[in-house]
Amino acid sequence: MAESKARTGVEPSDRVVIGITFGNSNSSIAYTVDDKAEVIANEDGDRQIPTVLSYVDGDEYYGVQAKSFLVRNPTNTIAYFRDFLGKEFKSIDPTHCHASAHPKDVSGNISFSVKDQPESEEASDVNISETAARYFRRLVGSASDYLGKKVTSAVITVPTNFNDKQREALIKAANDADVEVLQLIADPVAAVLAYDARPDAEIKDKIVVVADLGGTRSDVAVIASRGGMYTILATVHDYEFAGVNLDQALMDHFAKEFIKKHNKDPRENVKSLAKLRLEAEATKKALSLGTNAQFSVESLLDGFDFSSTINRLRYEMVARKVFEGFNRLVEGAVKKAELDVLDVDEVIMCGGTSHTPRIANNLAGIFPETTTILAPATSATAINPSELQARGAALQASLIQEYDANDIEQSTHAAVTTVKHIANAIGVLTIGANGEEVFSPVMQVETAVPARRTVHIAAPKAGGDVIIKVVEGGTHIKVTKPEPKAKEEKPADEDDSDFDSDEDEEEEHREKIWKTGKQLAEAAIKDVKANGKVEVTVNVLGDLSVTVTAREVGGKGGIRGTLTA
Ligand code: ATP
Repeated sequence: MAESKARTGVEPSDRVVIGITFGNSNSSIAYTVDDKAEVIANEDGDRQIPTVLSYVDGDEYYGVQAKSFLVRNPTNTIAYFRDFLGKEFKSIDPTHCHASAHPKDVSGNISFSVKDQPESEEASDVNISETAARYFRRLVGSASDYLGKKVTSAVITVPTNFNDKQREALIKAANDADVEVLQLIADPVAAVLAYDARPDAEIKDKIVVVADLGGTRSDVAVIASRGGMYTILATVHDYEFAGVNLDQALMDHFAKEFIKKHNKDPRENVKSLAKLRLEAEATKKALSLGTNAQFSVESLLDGFDFSSTINRLRYEMVARKVFEGFNRLVEGAVKKAELDVLDVDEVIMCGGTSHTPRIANNLAGIFPETTTILAPATSATAINPSELQARGAALQASLIQEYDANDIEQSTHAAVTTVKHIANAIGVLTIGANGEEVFSPVMQVETAVPARRTVHIAAPKAGGDVIIKVVEGGTHIKVTKPEPKAKEEKPADEDDSDFDSDEDEEEEHREKIWKTGKQLAEAAIKDVKANGKVEVTVNVLGDLSVTVTAREVGGKGGIRGTLTA
């Protein structure tokens, strides 16, 4: 595999490591100190550093400074290029580059034509690999300046649908910027790592949905976290519902206001459009924090200044279609993983767009109350969604920095990629107080093997012999329809068109029910004490063979059997 290919020449003991996320819109750099990951601010004070390079009189600008040149110097400003890495010209979608340097076909490869040389009016072709290397140089340079020593190595996060060519191109670009790539890790796994590394985090078996909502794309992953191992069950990638679409909704809204006043469309003029776009993004961000925001642009068109305000409710109306799109993406990913929303323990929201309260609240609406939605709007303990992945990458980098390249390859693949996992849950069937069978899961479905789990099962109050059956289990969702109620008449003028139009519809009740399958083992523990407990341990080996041990807690002896599943 390409991802652990490290640049030789750096001794593990000489490494200075960081975590990097390199997005189409923004990038971030992070390092760890005392096992805690911190995102680094660059020399402009930014932690979300726009993935933009701009050339003015031969000087190179990057980040926020470069982004501001999208208004005055768009043709020499390169933006939204990350997804072009490792691709041929004919297979890219250049949509997002229409207001910056256009990608150009040079013998099938992608280049940008920019005036990057001092004292020369000639533009030169900078290919995509060189563009990315130049950007990495700036990014890593900022990290080195901050840390006061030269960064040598990094863990970089990548989308789960990056193919080998894209991964190799990314590694090459980093290597060309003199950075050793310790490992590429999947974006959503980095986000889970950042949460699981918190000192108060409980590492338990759980199903996590990571909704990574960025500027130009949204990626959703469903991950089974079992005993600290992560298995990606399903992913969804979307290029239609993302941050720029929210900007567009606001731009259209304010453009219409401007047209009403001045009878001219500012979207038809390149410079006005660029100004509109930057201000729409700023207004959108302000609306994540406050309920009202300003929108003002000096000399928007024909010398006319434009100034207006918008409240959050109005924004949520004008961008409603985009918001609904996010819900569909997340629901689609859960479905693709052949799970139900009731199976999901946590939703981690990451990417800049996840700051938007309405998106988090909408997602809270589709999951049961037992699912934690980790976003600023829905959880007081949420980590800044824009920082999650860089932090996860930095934590991973500090974990593996002491290994040499081969060991990294060997030891880190399994943790995040495909290892064998069990296809059905394994649990214990006992007889409840009223003679009914009770299923207690011991090992959840999709647990990566080898794995071992222990549970304590209460014996009947009076004690005596306890029969333990170890069985496979699955879940199904039981839907209870409410009794139909007579419809109440509504007053004719009641406006019911808002978000929660179906709020007063009768909600059906859905719950997760265990269904038992094949019996794997049966054991009888004799003469268990009154109020005693029986301990059952299930051990599944790499070849999927299962060993079950059952014994009375505090008692002597026990029963052990091995079976092959
Ligand atoms: P992509 O690769 O999808 O283009 P990215 O991963 O490079 O995105 P992110 O920083 O995750 O970039 O997301 C950028 C998007 O997040 C932008 O559209 C930006 O406007 C938006 N964003 C950043 N902060 C906020 C905020 N506070 N509220 C709403 N949106 C925000």
